[in-house]
Amino acid sequence: MVYELSNMSWIEAGEKFKKTKLAIVPTGSVEQHGPHLGLGADWIQAWTIADRVGKKSGSLVLPVMPYGVSGHHSDFPGVITLKFSTFQNVIFDILTSLSRYGITRVLFINGHGGNLGALSEAARKARERYGMLCAIAQWWDILNRPIFGQPVMAHAGYAETAFMLASRPEVVKMEFAILSPTKQVDEEIELVNLGSAKFRDGIIRMPLKTADVSDSGSMTEAHPKDSPGTTDYSMITREFSENLMNEVVDWLCGFVERFERFELPQISVSREKALEPLKKK
Ligand SMILES: [Zn+2]
Repeated sequence: MVYELSNMSWIEAGEKFKKTKLAIVPTGSVEQHGPHLGLGADWIQAWTIADRVGKKSGSLVLPVMPYGVSGHHSDFPGVITLKFSTFQNVIFDILTSLSRYGITRVLFINGHGGNLGALSEAARKARERYGMLCAIAQWWDILNRPIFGQPVMAHAGYAETAFMLASRPEVVKMEFAILSPTKQVDEEIELVNLGSAKFRDGIIRMPLKTADVSDSGSMTEAHPKDSPGTTDYSMITREFSENLMNEVVDWLCGFVERFERFELPQISVSREKALEPLKKK
């Protein structure tokens, strides 16, 4: 079954658009991932997940958008970043193209958290302009649980290493895998991650650069006191990695099936509707 847009002729694509109103768009980034993973980690994971979902569900899969919003990583060599506005415009142009062929449901499989804001903005604009409905899937949101005690989205951490082992095991340099808890510089303001810090019991948002909080580029996003203080990745085996990947792929296949049929009622705002609950009193 042909599911990749890149492998279809325009005639086949035209036939596919008659049968489906849903398309999958994988997005990633080209940014450092510590000493043991390649710069393409985010787009490679996003692509591999999308490819497997397409293969299993038959859903239409677009080429991956490899570049993302990664300015915060730019102190490390090899990082290629787009401006927020550039990325948002590229995504919106892709949605505009899809809307011409009757696509009304778009599932982004996003491999890079830094893209989320721009993806959301483009998706809202497409909702406004084309009535299109977009959903943004990220593997860490789907798993939504710590992995061996570590926050699931820890940059270049356990889960991300597993997704790379399941995607391209031959390029993972496990001998260089390390844990780098967020650097601490102050006795009272405790840095939590790239975007937030803790002061007393409250959280304050503090957008930082990766190099502010990590020398290695890996970010396990834990206070040194919480970290196991080890470089042990031995539990991240090929088998564990495949299972984690399969869990996400299966979840997404289920979601895609439901999302294709998901409808929002026509928006209509009125005083009567707004005050309806008061009538029941
Ligand atoms: Zn990543």
